[in-house]
Parts: sequence; structure tokens; C-alpha cells
Amino acid sequence: MPYEKTEAILIRATDFSETSRVFSFFSRRFGRMSTLAKGVKRKSSRMIGQVDLFSCGEIVFSSGWYRDRMHILAEACAFETFPAIRDDMARYYAACHAAELARAMTEEEDPAPDLFGELRGLMRRLQAGVEPAVALLAFEARLLLLTGFLPELDRCVVCRGDSGRGPAAFSPGLGGVVCPDCSSEGGDLFEGVSTGALGILARLAEGRVTRLDRVRIAPTVKRQVRRFLDRYEAYVLGYPLRTAKHL
Ligand SMILES: [Zn+2]
Repeated sequence: MPYEKTEAILIRATDFSETSRVFSFFSRRFGRMSTLAKGVKRKSSRMIGQVDLFSCGEIVFSSGWYRDRMHILAEACAFETFPAIRDDMARYYAACHAAELARAMTEEEDPAPDLFGELRGLMRRLQAGVEPAVALLAFEARLLLLTGFLPELDRCVVCRGDSGRGPAAFSPGLGGVVCPDCSSEGGDLFEGVSTGALGILARLAEGRVTRLDRVRIAPTVKRQVRRFLDRYEAYVLGYPLRTAKHL
């Protein structure tokens, strides 16, 4: 069986048998993928202590399918671990939500190297002490951009006019903000979305905010962006992510 090698982040681990686990990775070369880690629960396993949830490193796997679309993990080495994520609930849930969103918004084995880079960047920022809510919002904005789901945030999606200041309406069906003149064309709307909150999301998506550790967003605005993303992600996916309730 041919072997493949890639950098990868462990995004989910589930028991498979008394000695083996299924490790789901988000990888640089293959996007999200599942591997069977045979014997990993044995005390003699070389992988014990190397591969924690959300850790990142190089994996080697045999690319033959095993039963229902799974590879066999041969090696996991040079793993960068992020212990601060496990030690803090807010960091942990931010990482969980990002991993779930990356899983839900991508196809199995569809390469997404930029998204891999964003996910690793998020883990590093959480480890380094960037405020979890802000780090997560920035990741989600980038994910929406990279997956083609970033909506129109600063102009009316119908007439292309300025969406103005203050409360705005957002049409998930049209994929953007609608101004008061065009709101009748938007179908089901998210009402009372603030243009300030959407503007922050737009800046985060464009990567214009480089020092996230210095970003201070007012708590009310942060809550608005969070609420907007939860609703919009649920709309795009067709269901709410179960990790959203912990944020
Ligand atoms: Zn308009």
C-alpha cells in the first residue's frame, strides 16, 4: 500500500476497539480525513502523548481504504501541542467550534491548505493567550471567505448602495445586507443586525486585522457578531452546530 505524508491537526478522536481509535484530522494536503490508529490505546504505543486533540504535526498513513473510507495511520511525529487550550473552557470550546465548522463546511479529502493554515493559526493564537472569542470570530470570517460563503457585508446586496449606519437587515437567501429601500426583496431577513458588527466581520475576513492580541471589541458588538454567525452558519449548513451553544 502506498504511503502518504502531510501536516495535520487532530480534530476528533473516537474509540474504535479496545486498542484502537479513529483519529480525524484536518490536513494540509488532503483536507479533512479519517485514519485508524491501530493499537494506539496500548501503553506501548509510540503515539501516546504525541497526538492530543487539536495538536498539529506530521502524519504518515497508508492510503488504502479500510472498511468505510478510512486510512491506516502509520506514524505521527513532531507534534506541536497546545496545552493552554485544554486548560481553559473558553479556549477549548472555541477550538471545538472551529474544528466542527471546518469539518461541516468542507468535503472529505478536498484539499484546503489555506484553511489548514487558518486552523493552525487559531490554535497557536489560543495557546498564546489571544481572547478566545476574538480569535474564533477571526477564524470564522476567514473560513467563510475561503469556502466562498462570506456574504456581502458592507453594501446592499440588491442596489449596491451604502447600507447606512445603525441597525441593518440581512438576507441569508440573497447572501448579504439589504438597505431599507430593498428590504421587501430579501425574503426571510435577520432583522436588527448592526452594520458596525458586520463591518468588523468584513475586516477580519480580509485579514486586515493583523494583531488580534491587540483587538478590543465592545462586549455588545462581540455578542452581535457571535449571534449573527451562529444564525448564518446554521442557515448555510441547514442545522445549528452543536458546539455553538457553548460559546
Ligand atoms: Zn438596497
